[in-house]
Amino acid sequence: MAGAYPPARKSLGQNFLHDPGVISRIVASIAPAPDDVMVEIGPGRGALTVPLLKVLNQLHVVEYDRELAARLPQLEGGERLEIHQGDAVQFDFDVVPGRLRVVGNLPYQISSPLLFRLAQYHERIEDMVFMLQKEVVDRITAAPGSGTYGRLTVMLAVSFASKKLFDVGPGAFKPAPKVHSSIVRLIPHADGSLDTGDPKIFEQIVRAGFTARRKTLRNGLKGLVDAETFAACDIDPGARPETISPQQWAALSRRLG
Ligand code: SAM
Repeated sequence: MAGAYPPARKSLGQNFLHDPGVISRIVASIAPAPDDVMVEIGPGRGALTVPLLKVLNQLHVVEYDRELAARLPQLEGGERLEIHQGDAVQFDFDVVPGRLRVVGNLPYQISSPLLFRLAQYHERIEDMVFMLQKEVVDRITAAPGSGTYGRLTVMLAVSFASKKLFDVGPGAFKPAPKVHSSIVRLIPHADGSLDTGDPKIFEQIVRAGFTARRKTLRNGLKGLVDAETFAACDIDPGARPETISPQQWAALSRRLG
């Protein structure tokens, strides 16, 4: 397929990396090894894909944009790509066998739903390295009690340890986004995920709790958690949701289940 790439589509979060220093730093953080089972979300024009393919024997990519997906085989090493054209949020990661390393410069508008989806696959994941909006990385890595600690923090923290690696300014992308970005690494806990009981109940109470962030737990979780359950879990019903650790959220959910 000859010719220039189509213009970047804002609706698909297409801010393409072009700074070689930033690209090598991200690839060094991923540290690919030839036999890794890796899935890159949103390969776009290949800024990360090509250097990853220099090392990997095979790379799975999930790209929504049909035109960009159609051009991927022409990248250097593109014959070793397994291309999945479609929405990464709906992608069935079980079609890729093995322990997964998931990476990508994520389209920012799908980052939260995609992370919630990937959390469901935590048992199959080796690690994940993502570029995200800096504010989202601050939420993922937040400590209980901080203003950025919330639903995303808790839903990921039960399965993964997270670490911010470095920040990236808007100038590293074309077109430049309005926001700053950060690289984050997520690694499943060595001793397994926290036991949250029924995942649906866990999801429901965490969502309800943080929807009413400024309410006490007693009010925010009215109808879901009663006084006895709070007492059995040694949780003050007058506390705010952001002061409750992932371990305590898991304990509440187990008790309800
Ligand atoms: N990896 C490239 C880079 O670093 O230059 C592109 C990154 S760009 C921020 C995000 C990429 O994700 C784009 O290629 C975009 O088309 C793709 N994308 C957007 N929404 C998607 C979705 N729902 N599922 C899969 N890919 C998506």
